[in-house]
Amino acid sequence: MIEFAEVSKRYPNGQDALRKVNLKIDSGEMAFLTGHSGAGKSTMLKLICLMERATSGQVIINGKNLNRIKSRKIPSIRRDIGMIFQDHRLLFDRSVFDNVALPLMIAGYPHREIGRRVRAALDKVGLLSKEKSTPIMLSGGEQQRVGIARAVVNKPPLLLADEPTGNLDPELSAEIMKLFEQFNQVGVSLLIASHDLSLLAKMNYRTLVMKEGQLVQDAVESAIGGGNRFSDDSFSSNNDPENYGEFS
Ligand code: ADP
Repeated sequence: MIEFAEVSKRYPNGQDALRKVNLKIDSGEMAFLTGHSGAGKSTMLKLICLMERATSGQVIINGKNLNRIKSRKIPSIRRDIGMIFQDHRLLFDRSVFDNVALPLMIAGYPHREIGRRVRAALDKVGLLSKEKSTPIMLSGGEQQRVGIARAVVNKPPLLLADEPTGNLDPELSAEIMKLFEQFNQVGVSLLIASHDLSLLAKMNYRTLVMKEGQLVQDAVESAIGGGNRFSDDSFSSNNDPENYGEFS
Protein backbone atom coordinates (compact mmCIF):
# COMPACT_ATOMS: atom_id res chain seq x y z
CA MET A 1 0.00 0.00 0.00
CA ILE A 2 2.79 2.42 0.99
CA GLU A 3 6.41 2.00 0.04
CA PHE A 4 9.26 4.45 0.60
CA ALA A 5 12.62 3.60 -0.95
CA GLU A 6 15.55 5.82 0.05
CA VAL A 7 13.23 8.82 0.26
CA SER A 8 14.71 12.20 1.11
CA LYS A 9 12.97 15.55 1.25
CA ARG A 10 14.73 18.90 1.33
CA TYR A 11 12.50 21.97 1.46
CA PRO A 12 13.43 24.96 -0.74
CA ASN A 13 14.93 26.75 2.31
CA GLY A 14 17.51 23.95 2.60
CA GLN A 15 15.83 22.19 5.54
CA ASP A 16 16.26 18.41 5.34
CA ALA A 17 12.94 16.96 6.57
CA LEU A 18 13.49 13.32 5.54
CA ARG A 19 16.75 11.47 5.07
CA LYS A 20 16.80 8.20 3.13
CA VAL A 21 13.64 6.73 4.61
CA ASN A 22 12.82 3.11 3.76
CA LEU A 23 9.44 1.76 4.71
CA LYS A 24 6.76 -0.68 3.67
CA ILE A 25 3.19 -0.71 4.95
CA ASP A 26 0.98 -3.51 3.67
CA SER A 27 -2.58 -3.25 2.53
CA GLY A 28 -4.89 -3.66 5.53
CA GLU A 29 -2.30 -2.52 8.09
CA MET A 30 -2.83 0.10 10.78
CA ALA A 31 0.38 1.78 11.87
CA PHE A 32 1.42 4.79 13.92
CA LEU A 33 4.08 7.34 13.11
CA THR A 34 5.65 9.05 16.09
CA GLY A 35 8.66 11.14 17.08
CA HIS A 36 9.42 14.60 18.37
CA SER A 37 8.11 17.77 16.77
CA GLY A 38 10.01 18.48 13.57
CA ALA A 39 11.03 14.82 13.12
CA GLY A 40 9.41 14.62 9.69
CA LYS A 41 6.03 12.99 10.39
CA SER A 42 3.88 15.54 8.54
CA THR A 43 6.32 15.63 5.66
CA MET A 44 5.94 11.89 5.27
CA LEU A 45 2.15 12.18 5.10
CA LYS A 46 2.43 15.10 2.66
CA LEU A 47 4.58 13.02 0.31
CA ILE A 48 2.01 10.20 0.36
CA CYS A 49 -0.88 12.47 -0.60
CA LEU A 50 1.23 14.52 -3.04
CA MET A 51 1.04 17.76 -1.13
CA GLU A 52 4.84 17.69 -1.45
CA ARG A 53 7.24 15.82 -3.74
CA ALA A 54 10.28 13.81 -2.69
CA THR A 55 13.66 15.34 -3.48
CA SER A 56 15.08 11.86 -4.13
CA GLY A 57 14.00 8.26 -3.76
CA GLN A 58 10.74 6.55 -4.67
CA VAL A 59 7.33 6.86 -3.05
CA ILE A 60 5.02 4.10 -4.26
CA ILE A 61 1.36 4.18 -3.24
CA ASN A 62 -1.01 1.42 -4.24
CA GLY A 63 1.46 0.29 -6.89
CA LYS A 64 1.83 3.78 -8.38
CA ASN A 65 5.20 5.49 -8.38
CA LEU A 66 4.39 9.05 -7.35
CA ASN A 67 7.52 10.41 -9.04
CA ARG A 68 5.83 9.67 -12.35
CA ILE A 69 2.50 11.31 -11.53
CA LYS A 70 1.87 14.52 -13.47
CA SER A 71 0.27 17.44 -11.60
CA ARG A 72 -3.04 17.09 -13.43
CA LYS A 73 -3.33 13.48 -12.20
CA ILE A 74 -2.92 14.43 -8.53
CA PRO A 75 -6.68 14.74 -7.81
CA SER A 76 -7.31 11.19 -9.02
CA ILE A 77 -4.54 9.86 -6.75
CA ARG A 78 -5.92 11.84 -3.79
CA ARG A 79 -9.36 10.34 -4.29
CA ASP A 80 -7.97 7.06 -2.96
CA ILE A 81 -6.62 8.69 0.20
CA GLY A 82 -8.67 10.05 3.10
CA MET A 83 -6.88 12.80 5.06
CA ILE A 84 -7.68 13.64 8.68
CA PHE A 85 -6.08 16.69 10.29
CA GLN A 86 -5.67 17.81 13.90
CA ASP A 87 -7.62 21.01 13.21
CA HIS A 88 -10.08 19.04 11.00
CA ARG A 89 -10.33 21.96 8.54
CA LEU A 90 -14.12 22.07 8.43
CA LEU A 91 -16.04 24.88 6.73
CA PHE A 92 -17.79 26.68 9.56
CA ASP A 93 -20.35 28.43 7.39
CA ARG A 94 -21.63 25.12 5.98
CA SER A 95 -23.70 22.36 7.53
CA VAL A 96 -22.23 19.08 8.69
CA PHE A 97 -23.89 17.44 5.67
CA ASP A 98 -22.26 19.89 3.24
CA ASN A 99 -18.85 19.44 4.82
CA VAL A 100 -18.98 15.68 4.42
CA ALA A 101 -20.45 15.96 0.91
CA LEU A 102 -17.62 18.17 -0.33
CA PRO A 103 -15.29 15.45 -1.72
CA LEU A 104 -18.21 13.80 -3.52
CA MET A 105 -19.36 17.08 -5.03
CA ILE A 106 -15.84 17.79 -6.27
CA ALA A 107 -15.71 14.28 -7.77
CA GLY A 108 -19.05 14.93 -9.53
CA TYR A 109 -21.21 12.28 -7.89
CA PRO A 110 -24.95 12.45 -8.66
CA HIS A 111 -27.12 14.25 -6.10
CA ARG A 112 -28.94 11.15 -4.78
CA GLU A 113 -25.73 9.15 -4.44
CA ILE A 114 -24.21 12.03 -2.44
CA GLY A 115 -27.13 11.98 0.04
CA ARG A 116 -26.90 8.24 0.48
CA ARG A 117 -23.15 8.17 1.00
CA VAL A 118 -23.00 11.20 3.29
CA ARG A 119 -25.65 9.72 5.58
CA ALA A 120 -23.87 6.36 5.62
CA ALA A 121 -20.62 8.09 6.61
CA LEU A 122 -22.32 10.21 9.30
CA ASP A 123 -24.03 7.11 10.64
CA LYS A 124 -20.67 5.36 10.83
CA VAL A 125 -19.23 8.11 13.06
CA GLY A 126 -22.44 8.40 15.13
CA LEU A 127 -23.51 11.83 13.88
CA LEU A 128 -26.49 11.14 11.69
CA SER A 129 -28.72 13.33 13.85
CA LYS A 130 -26.38 16.32 13.38
CA GLU A 131 -26.41 16.60 9.60
CA LYS A 132 -28.13 19.99 9.65
CA SER A 133 -25.94 21.47 12.40
CA THR A 134 -23.00 23.71 11.61
CA PRO A 135 -19.63 22.65 13.04
CA ILE A 136 -19.67 25.53 15.54
CA MET A 137 -22.61 23.84 17.30
CA LEU A 138 -20.57 20.67 17.88
CA SER A 139 -18.04 19.66 20.51
CA GLY A 140 -14.36 19.20 19.60
CA GLY A 141 -14.74 15.42 19.48
CA GLU A 142 -17.81 15.70 17.25
CA GLN A 143 -16.02 18.11 14.92
CA GLN A 144 -13.20 15.62 14.57
CA ARG A 145 -15.71 12.89 13.77
CA VAL A 146 -17.18 15.09 11.01
CA GLY A 147 -13.63 15.38 9.64
CA ILE A 148 -13.37 11.59 9.71
CA ALA A 149 -16.73 11.16 7.96
CA ARG A 150 -15.53 13.53 5.23
CA ALA A 151 -12.30 11.53 4.88
CA VAL A 152 -14.08 8.19 4.48
CA VAL A 153 -17.13 9.30 2.47
CA ASN A 154 -15.77 8.08 -0.84
CA LYS A 155 -14.43 4.88 0.71
CA PRO A 156 -10.70 5.34 0.16
CA PRO A 157 -8.57 2.24 0.79
CA LEU A 158 -6.03 4.38 2.69
CA LEU A 159 -6.56 6.85 5.56
CA LEU A 160 -3.84 9.23 6.74
CA ALA A 161 -4.27 11.11 9.99
CA ASP A 162 -2.01 13.92 11.22
CA GLU A 163 -2.28 14.29 15.03
CA PRO A 164 -6.01 13.46 14.92
CA THR A 165 -6.37 13.54 18.70
CA GLY A 166 -4.09 16.51 19.33
CA ASN A 167 -6.90 18.69 20.68
CA LEU A 168 -8.89 16.00 22.46
CA ASP A 169 -8.93 14.64 25.99
CA PRO A 170 -7.98 10.97 26.59
CA GLU A 171 -11.57 9.70 26.55
CA LEU A 172 -12.43 11.33 23.22
CA SER A 173 -9.07 10.26 21.82
CA ALA A 174 -9.90 6.65 22.68
CA GLU A 175 -13.22 7.01 20.84
CA ILE A 176 -11.48 8.27 17.73
CA MET A 177 -9.04 5.36 17.91
CA LYS A 178 -11.92 2.93 18.21
CA LEU A 179 -13.36 4.39 15.01
CA PHE A 180 -10.03 3.94 13.25
CA GLU A 181 -9.92 0.33 14.40
CA GLN A 182 -13.38 -0.25 12.96
CA PHE A 183 -12.26 1.02 9.57
CA ASN A 184 -9.16 -1.12 9.80
CA GLN A 185 -11.25 -4.19 10.60
CA VAL A 186 -12.94 -3.89 7.22
CA GLY A 187 -9.60 -3.73 5.44
CA VAL A 188 -8.81 -0.01 5.29
CA SER A 189 -5.11 0.80 5.70
CA LEU A 190 -4.27 3.56 8.18
CA LEU A 191 -1.16 5.57 8.94
CA ILE A 192 -1.63 7.82 11.96
CA ALA A 193 0.93 10.43 13.01
CA SER A 194 0.78 11.09 16.74
CA HIS A 195 3.14 12.15 19.47
CA ASP A 196 0.66 11.11 22.16
CA LEU A 197 2.78 8.40 23.72
CA SER A 198 0.26 7.44 26.39
CA LEU A 199 -2.30 6.81 23.67
CA LEU A 200 0.14 4.74 21.61
CA ALA A 201 1.06 2.70 24.67
CA LYS A 202 -2.57 1.63 24.99
CA MET A 203 -2.84 0.58 21.36
CA ASN A 204 -0.89 -2.48 20.34
CA TYR A 205 0.11 -1.51 16.83
CA ARG A 206 3.16 -1.19 14.69
CA THR A 207 4.83 2.11 15.54
CA LEU A 208 7.35 3.85 13.34
CA VAL A 209 9.59 6.24 15.25
CA MET A 210 11.09 9.21 13.40
CA LYS A 211 14.04 11.26 14.57
CA GLU A 212 15.55 14.16 12.66
CA GLY A 213 14.15 12.94 9.37
CA GLN A 214 15.18 9.32 9.81
CA LEU A 215 13.18 6.24 10.63
CA VAL A 216 14.93 5.05 13.81
CA GLN A 217 12.57 2.34 15.03
CA ASP A 218 9.88 0.12 13.57
CA ALA A 219 8.27 -2.06 16.19
CA VAL A 220 5.08 -3.06 17.91
CA GLU A 221 4.35 -0.31 20.46
CA SER A 222 4.25 -2.61 23.49
CA ALA A 223 7.78 -3.73 22.62
CA ILE A 224 9.23 -0.22 22.41
CA GLY A 225 11.49 0.33 25.37
CA GLY A 226 11.05 -3.28 26.39
CA GLY A 227 12.91 -5.10 23.70
CA ASN A 228 13.42 -4.77 20.04
CA ARG A 229 10.68 -6.89 18.61
CA PHE A 230 10.79 -5.61 15.09
CA SER A 231 7.65 -6.18 13.15
CA ASP A 232 7.75 -7.79 9.76
CA ASP A 233 4.82 -8.83 7.64
CA SER A 234 2.69 -9.93 10.55
CA PHE A 235 0.13 -7.17 10.10
CA SER A 236 -1.04 -7.96 6.64
CA SER A 237 -4.73 -8.61 6.15
CA ASN A 238 -6.84 -10.17 3.49
CA ASN A 239 -9.81 -7.96 4.17
CA ASP A 240 -11.39 -6.12 1.29
CA PRO A 241 -11.53 -2.31 1.60
CA GLU A 242 -14.46 -2.29 -0.83
CA ASN A 243 -16.51 -3.75 1.99
CA TYR A 244 -16.12 -0.72 4.30
CA GLY A 245 -18.65 -1.91 6.86
CA GLU A 246 -22.02 -0.26 6.56
CA PHE A 247 -21.08 1.63 3.41
CA SER A 248 -22.50 0.15 0.27
P1 ADP B 1 6.70 16.82 12.32
O1 ADP B 1 5.42 16.59 11.61
O2 ADP B 1 7.34 15.56 12.83
O3 ADP B 1 6.59 17.86 13.39
P2 ADP B 1 7.55 18.13 9.86
O4 ADP B 1 7.48 17.11 8.78
O5 ADP B 1 6.45 19.12 9.95
O6 ADP B 1 7.76 17.38 11.26
O7 ADP B 1 8.90 18.94 9.71
C1 ADP B 1 10.17 18.32 9.49
C2 ADP B 1 11.21 19.42 9.31
O8 ADP B 1 10.96 20.10 8.08
C3 ADP B 1 11.21 20.49 10.39
O9 ADP B 1 12.53 20.92 10.61
C4 ADP B 1 10.38 21.60 9.79
O10 ADP B 1 10.74 22.86 10.31
C5 ADP B 1 10.72 21.48 8.32
N1 ADP B 1 9.64 21.91 7.43
C6 ADP B 1 8.37 21.41 7.39
N2 ADP B 1 7.66 22.01 6.42
C7 ADP B 1 8.48 22.91 5.84
C8 ADP B 1 8.34 23.84 4.76
N3 ADP B 1 7.18 23.94 4.08
N4 ADP B 1 9.41 24.60 4.44
C9 ADP B 1 10.56 24.48 5.10
N5 ADP B 1 10.77 23.62 6.12
C10 ADP B 1 9.76 22.85 6.49
